[in-house]
Amino acid sequence: MSEPLIPFVDLKSQYQALKPQIQQRINAVLEHGQYIMGPEVRELEVRLEAYTGARHCITCASGTEALLISLMALNIGSGDEVITTPFTFAATAEMIVLLGAKPVFVDIEPDTCNIDVALIEAKITSRTRAIMPVSLYGQVSDMDQINAIAARHGNLPVIEDAAQSFGANYKGRKSCNLSTFGCTSFFPSKPLGCYGDGGAVFTNDDALAQACREIRVHGQSKRYVHSRVGLGGRMDTLQCAVVLAKLERFEWEVQKRLEIGNLYNDTLDGLGISRVQQRPDRNSVFAQYTVFLKKRETVQKSLKAAGIPTAVHYPTPLNEQLAYAHLCCPDCTPVAAKTAKCVMSLPMHPDLSASEIIRITSLLAEITV
Ligand SMILES: *Cc1c(COP(=O)(O)O)cnc(C)c1O
Repeated sequence: MSEPLIPFVDLKSQYQALKPQIQQRINAVLEHGQYIMGPEVRELEVRLEAYTGARHCITCASGTEALLISLMALNIGSGDEVITTPFTFAATAEMIVLLGAKPVFVDIEPDTCNIDVALIEAKITSRTRAIMPVSLYGQVSDMDQINAIAARHGNLPVIEDAAQSFGANYKGRKSCNLSTFGCTSFFPSKPLGCYGDGGAVFTNDDALAQACREIRVHGQSKRYVHSRVGLGGRMDTLQCAVVLAKLERFEWEVQKRLEIGNLYNDTLDGLGISRVQQRPDRNSVFAQYTVFLKKRETVQKSLKAAGIPTAVHYPTPLNEQLAYAHLCCPDCTPVAAKTAKCVMSLPMHPDLSASEIIRITSLLAEITV
């Protein structure tokens, strides 16, 4: 008898739990018909400002656009360098390159997989214009230390790629409100997802917030007054409506993710299976639950056969990808190179049950011994 499939991310049960709220919110948009920049856009921004504590939230078309808009607001371009990690989704470095700037890759910590803060300072040059840490798997980097380094070097702006960490906290403060900019994504499978593409930029700086708002609408300071070069980067009203509905149980989901992450931690530690570590002064939102394995492909196959899907975040560091390989030799970041060969993510979502976690971890232990 084959066991039932465990979803990797469970958007169906989340929808079932929130169906009336989501339908009501979507219907309200269909009735008022303001599909672009309707009232739900600002309503969501105000809610997210309150949630994160950031002074400004500027919603935009995706997490990728959030990164692009924040880099554009800082006037980053040709000849500039931005310090970041190679162990991330492509969008992080991609937006830097798109603007003609150069991503400078710094290696990662072997246990958290986040940027190794101790290696940042050596990579700062007279061309460095920003530091862009990624809150990988939903856990924030050591932002106090990164901000201190940035302050020591002429107040460099710090952009948190918080695409995976909305809802996470760091020393009692929320991800997205820890540096010059926080950029998140509402891609459906992220901790706070919509039903398509969406994202947001957060900042406490009034002038930068204004720049972001203008860039989002083709650089307009007023209708048909184009004060700067921008783009079409708005988030749809309908997607904002979906996120507003999802906010109703988001805090519960954040707590559940933390409980599930901790249960995975305790169970795997008991079984002697190596995993990504969390620092005690911050709560991950566990966008991914990731373990370290030797024979990854074999394990993935066996788990798949037993109805347990897995994924690899990420199989190749960006400095080994064709598009970025010329920017930095792969051996500049040996930890990232090694980590990419052994990471594997397990099913992770707020509706995952304790018995499912036991099923997953027991099988994993059986296969890996
Ligand atoms: C998902 C993701 C992005 C891009 O977000 P989109 O909304 O898909 O454009 C950027 N950076 C990281 C680390 C991500 O995980």
